[in-house]
Amino acid sequence: MSLEDLAKRVSAARAATEARGETFYPGPSRVHLAAFPPKERWDDWAELDSRAWPQRVERRYLLVPTTCFNCESACGLLAYVDRATLEVQKFEGNPEHPGSRGRNCAKGPATLNQVTDPDRILFPLRRVGRRGEGKWEQVPWDEVLDDLAARIRKAIVERRQSEIMYHVGRPGEDGFTERILAAWGVDGHNSHTNICSSAARAGYELWCGIDRPSPDHARAKVILLVSSHLEAGHYFNPHAQRIMEGKANGAKLVVFDTRLSNTATHADLWVAPIPGSEAAIFLAIANHLIQTRRYDREFVRRWWNWREFLEAEHPELAPTFESFEAVLATLYADYTFDFAAAESGVTARVLAQVAELVAGAGTRLATHTWRSAASGNLGGWQVARTLFLLNALLGAVATEGGTYPNAWNKFVPKPIHLPRHPEHWNELTWPAEFPLSMYELSFLLPHFLRQGRGRLDVYFTRVYNPVWTNPDGFSWIEMLRDEKLVGCYVALTPTWNETAYFADYVLPMGHGSERHDLHSYETHDAQWLGFRQPVLRAARERLGEKVGDTRATNPGEVWEENEFWLELTWRLDPDGSLGIRPFAESKQRPGERLGVDEYYAWIFEHSVPGLPERAAAEGLTPLAFMRRYGAFEISRDLGPLYEREVPAEELIDPAEDRYGRVYTQAPKPPSPNIVPMGSPDPDAAGRRPAGVRQDGKVLQGFPTPSGRLEFYSSTLAGWGWREVALPAYIRSHVHPESLGPDRMCLISTFRLPVHIHTRSANAKWLDEIAHTNPLWLHTRDAERLGVSTGDLVRVETEIGHFVVKAWVTEGIRPGVLACSHHMGRWKLAAPDGQRQHQQTATVGLAQNGSRWTLRQEGSVEPFASSDPDTARLWWTDVGVHQNLTFPVHPDPVSGMHCWHQAVRVAKAAPGEHYGDIAVDTAASRRVFEEWLARTRPATRHSPDGTRRPYWLIRPLKPSREAYLLPRTASPIPAGTGAAE
Ligand code: SF4
Repeated sequence: MSLEDLAKRVSAARAATEARGETFYPGPSRVHLAAFPPKERWDDWAELDSRAWPQRVERRYLLVPTTCFNCESACGLLAYVDRATLEVQKFEGNPEHPGSRGRNCAKGPATLNQVTDPDRILFPLRRVGRRGEGKWEQVPWDEVLDDLAARIRKAIVERRQSEIMYHVGRPGEDGFTERILAAWGVDGHNSHTNICSSAARAGYELWCGIDRPSPDHARAKVILLVSSHLEAGHYFNPHAQRIMEGKANGAKLVVFDTRLSNTATHADLWVAPIPGSEAAIFLAIANHLIQTRRYDREFVRRWWNWREFLEAEHPELAPTFESFEAVLATLYADYTFDFAAAESGVTARVLAQVAELVAGAGTRLATHTWRSAASGNLGGWQVARTLFLLNALLGAVATEGGTYPNAWNKFVPKPIHLPRHPEHWNELTWPAEFPLSMYELSFLLPHFLRQGRGRLDVYFTRVYNPVWTNPDGFSWIEMLRDEKLVGCYVALTPTWNETAYFADYVLPMGHGSERHDLHSYETHDAQWLGFRQPVLRAARERLGEKVGDTRATNPGEVWEENEFWLELTWRLDPDGSLGIRPFAESKQRPGERLGVDEYYAWIFEHSVPGLPERAAAEGLTPLAFMRRYGAFEISRDLGPLYEREVPAEELIDPAEDRYGRVYTQAPKPPSPNIVPMGSPDPDAAGRRPAGVRQDGKVLQGFPTPSGRLEFYSSTLAGWGWREVALPAYIRSHVHPESLGPDRMCLISTFRLPVHIHTRSANAKWLDEIAHTNPLWLHTRDAERLGVSTGDLVRVETEIGHFVVKAWVTEGIRPGVLACSHHMGRWKLAAPDGQRQHQQTATVGLAQNGSRWTLRQEGSVEPFASSDPDTARLWWTDVGVHQNLTFPVHPDPVSGMHCWHQAVRVAKAAPGEHYGDIAVDTAASRRVFEEWLARTRPATRHSPDGTRRPYWLIRPLKPSREAYLLPRTASPIPAGTGAAE
C-alpha cells in the first residue's frame, strides 16, 4: 500500500470513528494507532516476550517518555524500561507528543543501538601523547572540571573572553548553553548553522523578522517544497506525516529537486531544475501572479512595506498603492516563463503549470525550503526570499493551509536565571566582512586563526565533528594540531569521531535517552513543549528512588551536558567574585548549586501557560507531569498574529512614523515565551516599536524595522546591497556559464533518510539499511564518460579530488552529479576502546607541506563484542568522505557555505583506489581569499558605525555597546583581500 493510500485510510478511519462519537487515541496526537498503550497503564505495561515464543511469557514495562535526538525534529519517544532489569528494551513513539503524534522515522527506535553501542565512550579521557597521536588515559571528572574551570576563569579575568568558544552542531535544546556562556560574559557561541541553513534563514528573516517558515501542510491546497522534505527535511517526520495528510485531503504536491528523491516520487509534479535557477523560476511565477492580477491586493496593500520602497526607489511617484502596483507590474516583467526556462532547463509549459497551481492555491499555499537550493548556491538566500514572495503575493501568510513565521508556532520558556548580554564582540565568529550573516562564520575558523585574527584557549565541540562535517577538513586538522592556535580542545561526545582524535579531553555525553533538554518546533499551527529526559533516572524516580546526578543511571561515567555546565560554572567562580556564580545557584537552597530538577521544575511552574493547571488536574506537579508524558501542548490554531490589535493600555505616549510604525513608552509586556525573533530599534525618543497603524487600528504586525513584511529591505540597501534589496535572482557560482564546457555541478548536500550526519555510524540497524554513497550520474553523462554502475570515478574539485563508485541512473538531471554527505566516515588506527568499529574505514593520512592524502587501509568487518550482531556485519563499503575535498564558499550576504561544487569527473586512473582523497590546503586558502573578496564589510558599509544591524536575530546577543565598531583599528587584518 502506498503512503498516500495509507494516509487516506487513516483519515477515513478517523472520520468513521468520530462519526460514532468515539475518539481516537485520546491524547494530543489525536490519531489512531491501535498499538499505543493507554497512558493510564504506563506504570505497568505487559507485553509477550518475542524471544520466549512459543511460550507466552509476559514482560512488564515502565513506559517513560523522552525526546529523540537523532535529528532536529524532536519527536517524542517512549522508552520501554523492563521492570525486572531496569534496562531499556526498545523505543517507540510517544502518542502524547503533539508534534510527532506517536510516529517516528527509523532513526528514533535506533536510539537503542546508540545506547548499547559496544564502542561508545564511557569515561572521561585525557590525551597523553602528542595531539592527534591517539594516546589516552582515563581521568576523573573532578580533575577535568578543575582544570577547565581554572583555564576559563583565567581567560575571563585576563579579559581574553574571545579565546573561549563553544561550537555546537545539533544543539538539541533551546538556549541552555547559550545562557551558560552569557553567564560567563563570553560571546563564545559558535554553531553549525552556516554549513546548514543560514541562507534560508536570511531569506525569511529579511521578509518577516523571523527566520524560519512553518507551513501548514495538512490544510494546504498546494504544497510546494524545495527539498526532499518527505524523507529528510527540517522537522522531517512531523512534517512528512502532515504532508501526507494534506495529500489525503486533496492537496497537490509540487517538489523541486534536481534529483529523483523519495520525496519527488510522491509528487504530483516533480520539477528538476538546473541547480541555482530556482529563484528565477519563483520570480517567473510571481510575475505570472502579478501580470494576471491574481495576487491578493488587499493583503499586499495592508502588509507589504511598499511605502518605504516607493520613497527609497521612486521618490518621483505619488506615495499611493496605485503607484506601487504600477511599478510592481514592471519589476519582474523580464521574468517570463521563457526566461526561467532558459535558466532552469525546465520547459515553459511545465513552469506555467506550476504557476497555475500556485495561483489556484490562494491563501492555502504551504511552501518550504531549508537546506537544498538555498544552501547550495551563491545567493541561495534569495531562493527562500523569492519562494516566500509567492506566499506574500497570495496572502498565504499565517492562514489555514498557508505558511506561518515559525516563532508563532514555537515556545521557548523563560528560564530560572536570565544572564546579562556579554559585553564584548567575538570577531572570530562574527567578522566585520559579514555584517548581515545569519549566524556565525563557523566554517572559516581555521582560516581566521591562520590569518592571526586570534587564538583559542579553550575550545569545546559538542554534537559536532567539523573535520568530517565541514568543508575543507584538512584545514581543521592543521588548526587542531597547532597548540599555539588552540590551547585546549575539549570534545563533548558520546562516540569517537574524526575531530575527537585531535582533542585534549574527550568527555562522554549522553544520547537522547540519557540527558535533559527542552524543545519546541514549528511542526504545525500550535505551540508545544517537549521534554527530553534520562529515562532510567526517570524510571527509578517513578519507582521511588532518589537520583542526584544523571551519571548514577547512565552507563560508565557518561554525563549530561546540563549538569556538566552547571558544575563547571559553579567551579569557575567559587567565591562569586566574577558575578557568575548566581547564575548557577539554587533559588530554593541559596549557597548551593542549582540542580536540573529545580531548573526544570521552575520553568514548568512559572513559564509554561496552562501546564500547572493541567498537571494539577491529574494530581501531579508540573515537573512530574512532564516526566510522565514528555510533552505539553500550550496552544493551537494561533492564526495570523500580525492582525491582533495592540491593547490601548500598551500605547503610552505613542508616536508614529510616516510609514505608520507605531512606538510606545509602555514597557514590553512580560512574556514567558522568549522565542528568538527580530528586535526592531526604538525611535529617537527611546520608545519601543509596538505595532503598525492599519486602517485606523494599531495592529501587532511583524518584528521587522517597518513592522510589515519587508518586500523592500532597507537593511540590505543601507548596508551596501541596494541592488538586491528586493527579492531577486542571483546567478549561482555553479551557473552553466561559470561551469564552462568541462565541469559539472555536484550536489553534495542530500541526506540519506536513515542517517544523521555524524552520529548514526554506531546505529547497527541504520548502517545495515544504508552504508554507502555512490555518485549519481545520468545515463547520458555515463555514456559520454564511458562509465558504468560500480566503476571508479575521480571527482576533481577546486582543491583536490576524491575517488568514488558511479551509480548510473535516470533519476537525476543530465549534466548534474549528486553524492550524499552522509557517508565516508573514517578513523585512524587505534587500539580497541579508542575507536569505533562500525561504519568507519581505517585510513592512512599523509601530509607533505600543504598537500594531504587519505587512503582507506581497512574497511568495516565483523567483530566480537558484547553485541552478537557485530559478528554478523555483512557489508564492507562505508562510502567516501567527499567534504574533505570542498573549499569554503561563504556567501557574502548570508555567510552560508555554498555547498554546490563545480567539478570535473572522469574514470579513475590506474593506481587510484576507492575512497582516495587528495587535497592541497594552499589551494583552500586561495579559494577562501577569493570568496572573502566578494564581501562588503561593516567597516566600509555600516550606515551607523555598528558591526551589524541590531534588529537581526543573533544567538547570544552582546550588549549594544559591543555592537559598535572600534574607532581606531580595523578588525580586518591587512592583506586579507577583503574588498567590495
Ligand atoms: S524525524 Fe526521526 S530522527 Fe528526527 S526526531 Fe523524529 S524520529 Fe528522531
